[in-house]
Amino acid sequence: MTIAQEFKLSGVALPRDAAAMFGEICEHFVEHAEVQLSGDLALLKSKAGTAEIRIQDRKLLIELSCPTEAALQMSRTMLAEHLFYFAGEDPLELAWSDPASLAVLPNIHEVTVISAEDVTPNMRRVKFACADVTPFIGGDMHVRLLVPPKGRTPVWPGLRADGRVAWPEGEDELLVRVYTIRTVNVGKRELWIDFLQHSTLGIKTPGADFARDAEPGQRVALLGPGGGNLPVAQSILLAGDESALPAIARIAEEVPAGTRLQAIIEVADEAEEQRLYSAGSLEVRWLHRRDYAKDAKGVLLEEAKQAIAATEGETFVWFACEKEDVRAMRTYLKSRRHDRKSMYVAWYWEREAG
Ligand SMILES: Cc1cc2nc3c(=O)[nH]c(=O)nc-3n(C[C@H](O)[C@H](O)[C@H](O)COP(=O)(O)OP(=O)(O)OC[C@H]3O[C@@H](n4cnc5c(N)ncnc54)[C@H](O)[C@@H]3O)c2cc1C
Repeated sequence: MTIAQEFKLSGVALPRDAAAMFGEICEHFVEHAEVQLSGDLALLKSKAGTAEIRIQDRKLLIELSCPTEAALQMSRTMLAEHLFYFAGEDPLELAWSDPASLAVLPNIHEVTVISAEDVTPNMRRVKFACADVTPFIGGDMHVRLLVPPKGRTPVWPGLRADGRVAWPEGEDELLVRVYTIRTVNVGKRELWIDFLQHSTLGIKTPGADFARDAEPGQRVALLGPGGGNLPVAQSILLAGDESALPAIARIAEEVPAGTRLQAIIEVADEAEEQRLYSAGSLEVRWLHRRDYAKDAKGVLLEEAKQAIAATEGETFVWFACEKEDVRAMRTYLKSRRHDRKSMYVAWYWEREAG
């Protein structure tokens, strides 16, 4: 059955190099949507709707079509943010048949801190009260956490005419970090997020510090959910470090009975291990950084590669950790011609140079 797609919007983008941007769009969105390419036309299909992008006279002509008004607005914003990201320092003009005008984003959820507690010495769980948890059930797992400056009435983002997010500035500037919804407690209308306390002396870690200092009654917002579905496959290999542990734990909890799961999780030491539950068959191997040789690099990456090499048939590969290892994993899977639809390979944090 095809869903009627009734909400439509046209846009025109004028980048410095339309062909290069067209190429970047096709390359990038393969991981998020079904991309069909025919000549100068790219068709991007996802559950949010479809985007037709055509190169014409050094312009990109865009046609968006979505089943709901909210999905249309979110698709526009997602595309606009990506186009400006691809443009980098280059100029880009982007105009729509109906300019964006929302004062507040459609997928923003104001939530209130209920409690904060340590799950392990370095993992702090914050529970939030959320009036409507239904958008968080099933589907996408990740959100942008928006924390207003202490003591100020929150000002939440709206939209610019070109569809990009209009972030509050100056004294109202928000702290923005990406996290995983670890648990959706429908009965209590709660959302839980587990924050790794990764602070090393002298380095500011605003996201982690929010969880350390969170107080009941504190108001923050969650933008999303988005990016990163629960994988659907008979056999899934999950590998990641602590930043990915909340997602791994949630996937394990939500897969249907009969799913075969293998998880390789890197943590500081055994005190950071957590008990994982699943209706599927779950085999977990914990890697302890404390036991690594002094100059060891890429241990999780190598362990995950070995596990992939030993898999038979179609296994979904889910891999998330630091950027460098994620890039190496992408190269490895490409060399194996691993089906891009059977993988989720995403970097969750970036080590600072030096
Ligand atoms: C889709 C997605 C889902 C995520 N889900 C979670 C989650 O559920 N729980 C969670 O804890 N994190 C999660 N992360 C990772 C989190 O967004 C980053 O770790 C983020 O950088 C934390 O922000 P911060 O303000 O604490 O530190 P930042 O200000 O971003 O960084 C400060 C310093 O800490 C270092 N750093 C940042 N993250 C880490 C880390 N994980 N380990 C070691 N050093 C680090 C940086 O290199 C930098 O030197 C997720 C990321 C993505 C993209």
